[in-house]
Amino acid sequence: MSNPIRVTVWNEGRHEKTHEEIRKVYPNGMHTVIAEALNGAGFSARTATLDDDAEHGLSEKVLAETDVMTWWGHMAHRDVKDEIVERVYNRVLDGMGLIVLHSGHHSKIFRKLMGTTGNLKWRDIGERQRLWVINPAHPIVQGLPNQIVLEHEEMYGEAFDIPTPDEQVFISWYAGGTVFRSGCTWKRGLGKIFYFQPGHEAYPTYYNKEIQQVIINAANWAFTPPSPKLTVEHWKEPFEKVG
Ligand code: ZN
Repeated sequence: MSNPIRVTVWNEGRHEKTHEEIRKVYPNGMHTVIAEALNGAGFSARTATLDDDAEHGLSEKVLAETDVMTWWGHMAHRDVKDEIVERVYNRVLDGMGLIVLHSGHHSKIFRKLMGTTGNLKWRDIGERQRLWVINPAHPIVQGLPNQIVLEHEEMYGEAFDIPTPDEQVFISWYAGGTVFRSGCTWKRGLGKIFYFQPGHEAYPTYYNKEIQQVIINAANWAFTPPSPKLTVEHWKEPFEKVG
């Protein structure tokens, strides 16, 4: 079943190159695993990474051909050029969907869209995570059980410095005793944004079929049909007789 939605899976891609133990988990980078899941679901998904070219694989042409983007970054947020962040930001305001994954909470693009630091508490001891579906009618959780269990993940804890989400889809419990708003949505301009917490580079999270299903559902949900831009216009003449 083909899906006309065009997805660009963006990944920083540095851990997979610089750390042998991460390369064992994702030999071709986590972007290829995410893109394969999306293509397997019928999407037209391509990948782009930080070091692809001078524009991080995100040329004007690529963005014009992207309906939904996924974003994973961690160790090199500062290496993402501000002009590319501005480009992605403007595409979101014009209607591109954005799915921000895991450590993307500290990316320039997420912080710019949220207007907050994205700060949170964290601990990486591979503890069990239960992602509870708290909004069972939401399109992002269709076809999923009422909880997803990951045996090993990095813990992210509250308080999470984000604006109050438009919709809360998941709340996570971690074996070490903390909780986290692990699935949240917002709208900015015409664009829909979903933040999804799982996906630490040392664990095989993106091979998990339920996690893949969340990303697939989120890509469908985040699609906005082409629509007129929100422009400034001076409507000098009234549409009805005034006075
Ligand atoms: Zn992490």
